[in-house]
Amino acid sequence: MTSFSRQVKNELVRYPFTRRCCALAELRAFMQMNGKLTISQKTVSIAMQTQSASIARRLFLLFKFCFEVSPEILFCRRKQLQKNSTFVLRVPEKNDSFKVLQELGFFTANTENHKPVVKFLLQNRLTESGLKEKCCRRAYLRGSFLASGSLNNPSTPYHLEIVAPYHSYAQLIKNILASFNLEARYFQRKDDFVIYLKGAEEIGEFLRIVSAHNALLNFENIRIVKGVRNRINRLVNCETANLTKTVFASQEQISNIRLIEEAMGLKNIPPSLGQVALLRLRFPEATFQELGEMAAPPLSKSSINHRLRRINALARKIKENSGLKEKPGPEQ
Ligand SMILES: [Zn+2]
Repeated sequence: MTSFSRQVKNELVRYPFTRRCCALAELRAFMQMNGKLTISQKTVSIAMQTQSASIARRLFLLFKFCFEVSPEILFCRRKQLQKNSTFVLRVPEKNDSFKVLQELGFFTANTENHKPVVKFLLQNRLTESGLKEKCCRRAYLRGSFLASGSLNNPSTPYHLEIVAPYHSYAQLIKNILASFNLEARYFQRKDDFVIYLKGAEEIGEFLRIVSAHNALLNFENIRIVKGVRNRINRLVNCETANLTKTVFASQEQISNIRLIEEAMGLKNIPPSLGQVALLRLRFPEATFQELGEMAAPPLSKSSINHRLRRINALARKIKENSGLKEKPGPEQ
């Protein structure tokens, strides 16, 4: 998990829950993204799994708040990979499980034979009922991100994703995001469906929607620094290139003007060329545009260009006549 994902999740688990509608929506999202049902003849148990102790604690509190049910918390340490220890919250009691599933909207109270229905509903039933209120839709996104979301560090390419086990869940998240004017996309990765946001604006908006305000501030700060740095790099590269071109061309023009001066004197060339030649000698780093502005009367960029070409051509002629070889240099 990236450090930024962790930061966002640490902030989300502290978000206070006061309304039952939202707490249910958050649990429902977690259940849909990361929940497991174990069904046998005698028992139905719900399990939710997470690698984070603070997320496990939040789920426990949400269960208590919504259902007055205290799930068991199991801690499973993997022998090889200490890092991937997981917490499993389990509601083992059949009646409690039914109550929870029913309230989370996985099946209706009148269902006679729970078994096939639960399985079917977990996969397919997805209405947006219970998610009409904005507060609940935000809570649903919070639960989804806690269950299976991740966010690249903003110093790397912008990418936020939530992994859903079914197509219909991916579509639900996409719809919820659309209700906040965020356009998400999803694709299939093995058996899962990955909903993602790419743009910095969109990711910032997501953090705002789920109320990860500190993470949003950090994200924006890093993003601004990154943006400014990119812009400066572009600017510097581009100006250096132009300047180099101007300076090379200018050196060539100046040596040609000096040659003309020695060979025939600047007074003896057409005055239109003489004026530009003098300006170039005085302002070696000026662009054509700047030279044009300094001329009296002002000249366009292209007439400066044209006159300097004529000066270069004149110098070439002098070199040819005197048997001097022209030095290779950038064209201008
Ligand atoms: Zn609500």
